[in-house]
Amino acid sequence: MITEPRQLPNTLKLPANARLAADLSSAADAIEAMVYAANAGCGLRCLGEGSNVVLLPEVQPLVCYVKDTSISLLSRDEDFVTIKVGAGKNWHELVEETLAQGWFGLENLALIPGSVGAAPIQNIGAYGVEVAQFIESVSVIDANQTARDIAASDCAFAYRDSVFKARLAASDQALIILSVTFRLPLRANVNLAYAELAEAFELDTAKAGKQKPHAPAPLQVAAAVMAIRRKKLPDPGEYANAGSFFKNPVIDASTAQRLQVRSVTPYRFAQGYKVSAAQLMDLAGWKGARSGDVGCWPKQPLVLVNYGQASAEHLLGFAQEIQRSIAERFEIQLELEPSVVS
Ligand SMILES: Cc1cc2nc3c(=O)[nH]c(=O)nc-3n(C[C@H](O)[C@H](O)[C@H](O)COP(=O)(O)OP(=O)(O)OC[C@H]3O[C@@H](n4cnc5c(N)ncnc54)[C@H](O)[C@@H]3O)c2cc1C
Repeated sequence: MITEPRQLPNTLKLPANARLAADLSSAADAIEAMVYAANAGCGLRCLGEGSNVVLLPEVQPLVCYVKDTSISLLSRDEDFVTIKVGAGKNWHELVEETLAQGWFGLENLALIPGSVGAAPIQNIGAYGVEVAQFIESVSVIDANQTARDIAASDCAFAYRDSVFKARLAASDQALIILSVTFRLPLRANVNLAYAELAEAFELDTAKAGKQKPHAPAPLQVAAAVMAIRRKKLPDPGEYANAGSFFKNPVIDASTAQRLQVRSVTPYRFAQGYKVSAAQLMDLAGWKGARSGDVGCWPKQPLVLVNYGQASAEHLLGFAQEIQRSIAERFEIQLELEPSVVS
């Protein structure tokens, strides 16, 4: 394992440097990195493709990148395949490659930026599906320098949350995810519960003058998801961003009732309700708001964009202004979705 200073790529295009960074090609490398960080007392932080982080200019811990992009077929029966995927694999490539094999389930998660290793951390989700539904286990190296497999049932997966996210927030608890094991169905069972996705098929078939199909194929669902995402979300290659900057708040019934009176439309979620952070921001007038090089994306205010040379400090200050305004107007505390890494 070679350590060296490095500029840290990130989709917000914030200038950030690590004093020390290393590429990890094996479990042995990962253990060596843990030992190095423990001896140097500098801490360790793994990064993937930098699409869900706000990086401060000087990142203090040893920054590690898992390079394994392999896909291994562990088992197959009539109904399911089990595959183990290296943390360094690009998420969208995995979606494409599994669909091409006839291994289904990940179609609604097409085009989410980032790496496989980061996917369990915030339990990536989109269009009615969360990755936790397909994870069997996650292989990690802990701060105590041992390798272990954590079963999905022990990952505390929840909306944009997991046991890993909490652990990373406690900066003294280093964690390296080496690979993720998925169990994917061989029979298509597409999920069109998300209204916008269901509508996309009705519109497409109406345009083509055809009858609505019973259920589209997973590849068609992936194509529809990609079309919606391309229409709604800024391409980070063109407009630097980290996707949704705030989580949708989970609220109780009395808060839901209180918000309804103020033109907000909470919706049922698990045992309670969820409210769209974008709707709160919209109602509070944040759609398209700008402060210098930082602003809310006009079609989706939840996405904060670096339009030029914004700094992390400026971006986080702008986010705080939004949080303050939503708290004053709706008595709701918006929580940041990306992790701030310093
Ligand atoms: C345009 C856009 C759209 C997006 N849409 C969605 C969406 O629909 N749904 C959704 O859930 N997310 C979405 N995101 C957020 C992002 O794509 C995901 O959170 C993704 O999983 C982050 O992957 P990454 O490799 O870039 O992780 P990074 O940003 O590099 O890291 C994210 C976190 O994971 C940790 N981490 C990364 N890799 C490892 C590892 N191997 N071991 C231990 N810790 C690790 C980091 O320390 C950090 O805390 C979007 C982002 C963008 C830019």
